[in-house]
Amino acid sequence: MSAAEFDLIARFFDWPAKHKLNRLSVGDDCALCCVPAGHELAVTTDTMVAGVHFFETVKPAFLGHKLLAVNLSDLASMGAEPFAVTLALTLPRVDEDWLADFSAGLRQLAERYSVDLIGGDTTSGPLTLTLQAMGIVPEGLALRRDGAQPGDLIYVTGTLGGGGLGLKIAQGYQSILPEMALQRFHCPEPQLKHGLALRGIASACIDISDGLAQDLGHILAKSNVGACLDWEQIPLSASVRDYIEQTGDWQLPISGGDDYQLCFTVPPEKQHQLTTDYTRIGVIEAQPGLRINRQGKAQTIQAKGYEHFS
Ligand code: ADP
Ligand code: MG
Repeated sequence: MSAAEFDLIARFFDWPAKHKLNRLSVGDDCALCCVPAGHELAVTTDTMVAGVHFFETVKPAFLGHKLLAVNLSDLASMGAEPFAVTLALTLPRVDEDWLADFSAGLRQLAERYSVDLIGGDTTSGPLTLTLQAMGIVPEGLALRRDGAQPGDLIYVTGTLGGGGLGLKIAQGYQSILPEMALQRFHCPEPQLKHGLALRGIASACIDISDGLAQDLGHILAKSNVGACLDWEQIPLSASVRDYIEQTGDWQLPISGGDDYQLCFTVPPEKQHQLTTDYTRIGVIEAQPGLRINRQGKAQTIQAKGYEHFS
């Protein structure tokens, strides 16, 4: 590594590690972390490629935030508590203003959740941002995709469709209330508090990154079950309601991505353990496939979302 690259990391990506599980951070060949006894290490990676996952004109602080948020969202969906991330950056050129803004967006969210940046790699090439996040979860308590059983009730956190609407607004759709949807799209909030609260209660859980139909579809496939949803119960923000009234596109909250809310299933006997007002949107059934009741009619929904190699 050249002196210039070293300087770049020191300036933008080397801030003090604070979490007690991190024993050695940026600056050596590896970072060193502890996994406390009785816990499992949860590890996830997500990459964002310019022109595929984001427009190059997006504020770099939003990219730093979102890159971290989408990874923390994966940890949230497993019921894991994050403590460290590594960052692999591929940059077409060294643009100090870009790096300062990107690292500020990343650092702000990292500090909010007490997550340390403990290492990474910096290379030259087409703009590609990769982050790996690590968390811990008590042994046996991780919220997996394969535990849903017929009769379990299906819930979501927050509202759906805001991320998908934010993308449409970024592409030119005129909304009466653009701020919330744009915020959801650019700066999603990982649902970590809810992921932790659902340990021992949810039978399966996933974060909604590619749209409810597709992501719930992963739970159904892994658990060998089907589901029936009630469209009227799906929680929508005012701007998404207005969008559906204006366009008739009622599938947006089911097929649109970028919401980063959690979708989870709960056995009937554990309903009373839910302490937050999550929204119940349907039920797991033995019959495979995903069905939705809307305006008194049942229809089958194809699990479609963004597929990279289709
Ligand atoms: P090596 O060549 O031994 O893999 P590097 O010279 O690539 O190490 O990196 C030097 C140190 O800087 C390492 O501790 C590495 O983890 C860290 N690092 C490199 N790039 C980044 C980055 N983008 N963000 C955070 N840490 C980084
Ligand atoms: Mg290296």
